[in-house]
Amino acid sequence: MQTDSTGTTGEAKRDLRTMTRGELRDLMAELGQPAFRVKQVEEWVWDKNVSSFDQMTNLSKALRAQLAERVTLGGVEEVAKQVSTDGSRKYLLRFPDGVAVECVGMPTKNRLAVCASTQAGCAMGCAFCATGAAGITRSLSSAEIYEQVMHVRDDFATRVTSVVFMGQGEPFMNYDATLGALRRLNSPDGAGIGARHLTVSTCGVIPMIKRFANEPEQFTLAVSLHSAVQKTRDSLMPGVKKYSLLNLYDMMGEYVNKTGRRPTYEYALIQGVNDTDNELQYLCDFCRGTLAHVNIIQLNDVPGSKFKPSTPQRAQDFVQRLASVGVEATIRNSRGADIDAACGQLRQRYAK
Ligand code: SAH
Ligand code: SF4
Repeated sequence: MQTDSTGTTGEAKRDLRTMTRGELRDLMAELGQPAFRVKQVEEWVWDKNVSSFDQMTNLSKALRAQLAERVTLGGVEEVAKQVSTDGSRKYLLRFPDGVAVECVGMPTKNRLAVCASTQAGCAMGCAFCATGAAGITRSLSSAEIYEQVMHVRDDFATRVTSVVFMGQGEPFMNYDATLGALRRLNSPDGAGIGARHLTVSTCGVIPMIKRFANEPEQFTLAVSLHSAVQKTRDSLMPGVKKYSLLNLYDMMGEYVNKTGRRPTYEYALIQGVNDTDNELQYLCDFCRGTLAHVNIIQLNDVPGSKFKPSTPQRAQDFVQRLASVGVEATIRNSRGADIDAACGQLRQRYAK
């Protein structure tokens, strides 16, 4: 027994967005509706992203009322939005239970990239990450992950061309929901985004990288490396201590063999911590001869953090040295620096 929003006890209503096609079919059959209604409802939910049954104008008023009586329709509420001078928009979105997450829309000519969250908070505790410092509230459902992308699409009123799961949370600690969201984003009945344009970023949960390598779709994988020195990585990323760099190296080799796809290593340069000559040497050794691409990231300032970003010159040094051993590396320019685009920062500001 649960308490519903009216304060009475009773069976909590199921959310339509959490229902499988089979369950929706059963519901429609129960309501005496023909099978084609399933497709109509799905279109309203997954393609048109409506927030109420009343917007489903090709259904009769009676059916809309019946649906509203039986099920809820999820929906996110925009708590805050910040617009950057570079055009990116960052949102704080709240789900019906009050839990809020961040997502970002980054437009470039003819393209719209979305960065979405997979969990509210994160349990991995990375030392440089605002989300890590706050701990985990809960994992998101696949519908909640998907809804963030649709919210951004609707706000920009344009097609989303790529999605990265680099907001809050560790996608591979919420594997099934993450994969469900990826499939819905990929599906022609959903957002219709090509699998290669859908990227999962993980701090390196090895058993799940293995699972991911065996999925049939060509999704893209990014691994947050941040140091190829075990001791440094352990102190920066305590949540993945138990998966050693050696195991990660082997797993990534297996990933490349299995998928033939090029993975990315994320490396945020932190002054005096992972940007020394010794660290650079280890990074070169870790990447040399692999298919991996290295993304050198400018560390976002987290208020109260002891970590400081390296100089732009140091980032150039890293790219050049990596190139000299045949490893492709690029500097990812930080977007929305003026709008707290670092993961976790908007939520921190609004959290009570
Ligand atoms: N949990 C996943 C995905 C979310 S974090 C992961 O860790 O990969 C997305 C990216 O932001 C990761 O590469 C993470 O290491 C990076 N990140 C976290 N805090 C950062 C900061 N303060 N500055 C720059 N990048 C940061
Ligand atoms: Fe979690 Fe990723 Fe932040 Fe680490 S960097 S605490 S894994 S969100």
